[in-house]
Amino acid sequence: MNNDNFAYIHDIWTREQSFFGKTSPRSLAEKYGTPLYVYSERILRERCRELMGLIGYTNFGVNYSAKANTNPSILKIIREEGLSVDAMSPGEIYLEMKAGFRPEDILFICNNVSDEEIRYAVEAGVLVSVDSISQLERHGRLNPGGRVAVRINPGIGAGHHEKVVTAGTNTKFGVDPAFAGDLRAALREHGLRLAGLNQHIGSLFMSGDEYLEAASFLLSFAEEFPEIEFVDFGGGFGIPYHKEGGEKRLDLPLFGRRLQETIERWVNKTGRRILMKIEPGRYTVAECGVLLGRVHALKVNAGRTYAGTDIGFNVLIRRAMYDAHHDIEVYAGEPRAEEPKVPVTVVGNICETGDILAKDRLLPPLMEGDILGVLDAGAYGMVMASNYNCRLRPAEVLITTDGDDVLIRSRDTLEDLAGHFPG
Ligand SMILES: *Cc1c(COP(=O)(O)O)cnc(C)c1O
Repeated sequence: MNNDNFAYIHDIWTREQSFFGKTSPRSLAEKYGTPLYVYSERILRERCRELMGLIGYTNFGVNYSAKANTNPSILKIIREEGLSVDAMSPGEIYLEMKAGFRPEDILFICNNVSDEEIRYAVEAGVLVSVDSISQLERHGRLNPGGRVAVRINPGIGAGHHEKVVTAGTNTKFGVDPAFAGDLRAALREHGLRLAGLNQHIGSLFMSGDEYLEAASFLLSFAEEFPEIEFVDFGGGFGIPYHKEGGEKRLDLPLFGRRLQETIERWVNKTGRRILMKIEPGRYTVAECGVLLGRVHALKVNAGRTYAGTDIGFNVLIRRAMYDAHHDIEVYAGEPRAEEPKVPVTVVGNICETGDILAKDRLLPPLMEGDILGVLDAGAYGMVMASNYNCRLRPAEVLITTDGDDVLIRSRDTLEDLAGHFPG
């Protein structure tokens, strides 16, 4: 229980979830410093189980899209829950294998990679999904007679921001189905075996209509390729970032029924009970993560109140990059009376005007020393952290199912900053 002697003055979600186990935001901030990514093992396992149970179709698999969070301790938990994993780079393959994934559990979904990177995957025994005929040819030259998967662009895209729409007519991703003839020719020329077809139409859907439409498309395309072993419909499963505003969750049971119907129809028609996969990143890890930071300064500029924190966009870039919203909890430094909320612009310590975490957000009046908790920070948080302004990337802590806190990544040090330079 969060029972030490400070008052929660603005608490949207974590208390109801017993998120912090036996510890509390303030004690974590004291013990490990801020900014600090904190993950709940219990919530992570719950999300994994929801996904694994999505449909009753027996030849079903969940590929965790690891670019959302590649901390090896997180990867290990996900592996224990029976998910497989995708990789976007040799670096991800490397960390995934260190976390215990076997090569056959990994799908390397690459785009625009070099010979060296393809060779790395092939030599490790990892299946590669190519993203263009040009890359299929390259794969064929390096690995004649091998297995390969191909990413298709179904012509339908979706996403919460134009930067995360990854199919349709306005993106670099996938092979246009109009080139199916070239695809076949390249496979034949290099004696390649097509193991599977995959797609990913974009990130963060809350109903799934486009996803299901694209799934139907991919299945009908797959009818022309009787040799394939699997179809992978991609990720994009959304989470409610506006918890404070009462945003509803994605109705996963309903979505699962609809996906199951789509699949059953195809299986009945073709008689092919092949492996069907989904590839969620965000849904798996976003909600198990809360980012803690501290208020260091308060000021008013041209009538707007600013709270200056240690959560710069080098720590969490999602608002600067996608205009993303994250709910913010406040854990007061000292017990104090509840006061009406006021608009405050929460900023970081990076020398950039765009270093804003939340603009004109209604929060209780903040004081120096208050701890802030940024919700839903488990996906695309730490993995996008940088050393910009020579700031140190944060530490990460796991709250185990027993409620204990364990350090799973240490904070950068000043020596890390100097480590790559000669002399
Ligand atoms: C990023 C990505 C995903 C995961 O997207 P989410 O929105 O996090 O579920 C899945 N597949 C591919 C190919 C991706 O690039």
